[in-house]
Amino acid sequence: MNESVYSKYDEKKLADAFSFCEGYKKFLDNAKTEREAIIETVKIAKEKGFKDINEIIKTGDKIKAGDKIYAVNMDKAIVLAVIGEDDLKNGLNIVASHIDSPRLDLKANPLYEDSGICLLDTHYYGGIKKYQWTATPLALHGVVVKKDGTKINLIYGENEEDGVLCISDLLPHLDKDERKEVVTGEELNLIAGTIPDKNKEKNKIKNNILKILKEKGIEENDLFSSEIEIVPSGKARDLGLDKSMILAYGQDDRVCAYPSIKALFNITNPKRTSICLLVDKEEIGSYGATGMQSAFFENTVADLISLSNSNYSELNLRHCLKNSKVLSSDVTAGYDPNRPDKFNKNTEAFITRGIAFCKYTGARGKSGSSDANPEYIAKLRKILDENGVNYQATEMGKIDVGGGGTIAHFMAAYNLDVIDAGVPVLSMHAPWEITAKVDVYETYLAYTSFYTFMD
Ligand code: MN
Ligand code: MN
Repeated sequence: MNESVYSKYDEKKLADAFSFCEGYKKFLDNAKTEREAIIETVKIAKEKGFKDINEIIKTGDKIKAGDKIYAVNMDKAIVLAVIGEDDLKNGLNIVASHIDSPRLDLKANPLYEDSGICLLDTHYYGGIKKYQWTATPLALHGVVVKKDGTKINLIYGENEEDGVLCISDLLPHLDKDERKEVVTGEELNLIAGTIPDKNKEKNKIKNNILKILKEKGIEENDLFSSEIEIVPSGKARDLGLDKSMILAYGQDDRVCAYPSIKALFNITNPKRTSICLLVDKEEIGSYGATGMQSAFFENTVADLISLSNSNYSELNLRHCLKNSKVLSSDVTAGYDPNRPDKFNKNTEAFITRGIAFCKYTGARGKSGSSDANPEYIAKLRKILDENGVNYQATEMGKIDVGGGGTIAHFMAAYNLDVIDAGVPVLSMHAPWEITAKVDVYETYLAYTSFYTFMD
């Protein structure tokens, strides 16, 4: 369990892992926000023959084993399902991950001008170290919705011909006595421009920026009904002289979402119905209509039961959920040799050792954790060992130092078996996060085995 997977890989398997990650890097580039992740997922799902559940409901057709179905919630969460032979009330095999990532969001009234500079005010989303977001190129990704309902998709700061945005930081000469976290949330203001509109009396620079936004169809008041996220500009890159790792934004948790989507595509005629669930808002506590605490998942399962031949009843829905098995597919902290003081080397996940299982998350004595049952872990061990998957056990840093939460406990509330399982990450929640390609591939193999063999 505790050695690098390279010792078990031949050249062919290493090439397979690297080639799998080429697709993963493309997904990262095309899916920097939850909305973009849904668009990209639906695109590849349609190519694989998945049908929109709303279309099926309209036709009144029944669903049968082998059918591939997807349901999208508010463009920010999705259920992908491959229907199995078994009655749905016998349970589902679910791999669930999140597609939101820590970032900055534009405020609802963001534009202002100060000291010859036009700025955009932001509010950070999720757990970030604020100073990491200064002095680095940033891009805008999001939608602006006009009063008539038209939606303007905005991406600025990714193409060569675009500029980028940036938050300024003080020169080291001026803040040497207050070095640590010297940036506050209110200081995270993006620099947007400096050229004045000479025809205006006041706010000349802001007005010039408004002119540029108007060319995209956006008025200042439209930003009130917008959802614009600020993310690092640039593509996912191979990391290292040996290119064995990936450096990219938003790997928490797309590094689990992508393998779970790809693994589902391998499943053709499963015994139990296989579900890939991608949700939003995990980074801020899974609240909101698109987060795991929403009724969306449960409603979709109710729809699936009602569309299948088993008669829908509240009791069938409860039995279906209770009999399901879940991998809460989320990243964990990889051991960082730069900071040994924060980890217990004997109990932490290491990059290149495969998918990491976290029996319990939480903090201060497992508080807030769902704590997986050993009976379930034993079943998983059997499946993973029989299919040659490399895995490891992990915590999230030293006791009373680390900890964290995932969507696992919201799933557990259905009275089902769930465990956290995902890729170890270095620099988690930083603008650029680090993963090892072999871990991404092992995670994909683990999810494929889970879908196929869990019962
Ligand atoms: Mn996560
Ligand atoms: Mn996270």
